[in-house]
Amino acid sequence: NTGSASFLRELNPNRVEATKREALLENPGFGRVFTDHMVTIRYSEGRGWYDAKVVAHGPFSFDPATLVLHYAQEIFEGMKAYRLPDGGAALFRPDANARRFRNSAERLAMPALPEPLFVDSVRELVRVDREWIPRTDGSALYLRPFMIATEAVLGMKPSPDYLYCVVATPVGSYFKGGASAVTLWVSENFTRAAPGGTGDAKCGGNYAASLAAQAEAIREGCDQVVFLDAVERRWVEELGGMNVFFVFADGSIQTPPLTGTILPGITRASLITLARDLGLTVREEPYAIDQWQADAQRGKLVEAFACGTAAVVTPIGKVKGRTHEFTIGDGNLGLVTARLKSALLDIQNGRAPDHYGWLD
Ligand code: PMP
Repeated sequence: NTGSASFLRELNPNRVEATKREALLENPGFGRVFTDHMVTIRYSEGRGWYDAKVVAHGPFSFDPATLVLHYAQEIFEGMKAYRLPDGGAALFRPDANARRFRNSAERLAMPALPEPLFVDSVRELVRVDREWIPRTDGSALYLRPFMIATEAVLGMKPSPDYLYCVVATPVGSYFKGGASAVTLWVSENFTRAAPGGTGDAKCGGNYAASLAAQAEAIREGCDQVVFLDAVERRWVEELGGMNVFFVFADGSIQTPPLTGTILPGITRASLITLARDLGLTVREEPYAIDQWQADAQRGKLVEAFACGTAAVVTPIGKVKGRTHEFTIGDGNLGLVTARLKSALLDIQNGRAPDHYGWLD
């Protein structure tokens, strides 16, 4: 019951009518509508992984004592299936998501889902719901694998039982403003992750804890929060759901290192590879918020961008905070950011050769 699985199919291909689906795919928004199906796999101690199936997307029913509802023993992933020019579909580096999911599971004291089973489960859902992959440029099918603790006993210990599930939602641009530059709010009241915490795991609790900071950013008229480290409150870490890169006038680029408090983004890793192969110098080194402001004001830093599966590559135009306020370059999309963004999108959408073997 591990490794490559066969999924029992209990299909309901017309949960959403075909004409309604086509209308939804024209302008999907982000995460509002879901495809016809979902994948579920169960786990219990002693038995391991079992009961892998594809069923109609629909509600679960849980006892109120179910562990995840109380202690947040939950992890998830986020990835996209892209429509290729020949009409086919491809996932982007699903093996990397499988590895990160396993690492998150280990940190949350959950069982490891075998990586081939993770990739198979996502592929199976894309296969069954392939009509749901949007055709419009900039859109894709977002896949959300997640795992929850399902034992219904209020004991503070790892659950012996789990449910793994994958749902899918067609998505367009993550930001309301589409591809235009965003404004960040420097969070001084809140931090996201501390050394020894769960910052480098993709668990729901991290996101619950970031919501007040994100709400503060919105109140201040900004699009996203940027977090500083929890110890010195000085080093730029990442945004609520994206990694961050800095571009300097000398053409070099920099991103905070993976020290355990930020999520190791797959987009981040891919952009580091692409940038180096484009001949750019890339540093993975800490960068202080005061230095960012000084460098932007002196013209030493000319661009900055956020990156992630949902955000792709989004230019950062302005940064604001209680004690900071600066514009980056002319506040719009810069040349290096644009070049990296199209290099990535061309591979993901099958317009450029996939030298790295990233499409699956
Ligand atoms: N940081 C955080 C906190 C995130 O939630 C995400 C999105 N998964 C990222 C960075 C970017 O990761 P990826 O490029 O793998 O989507």
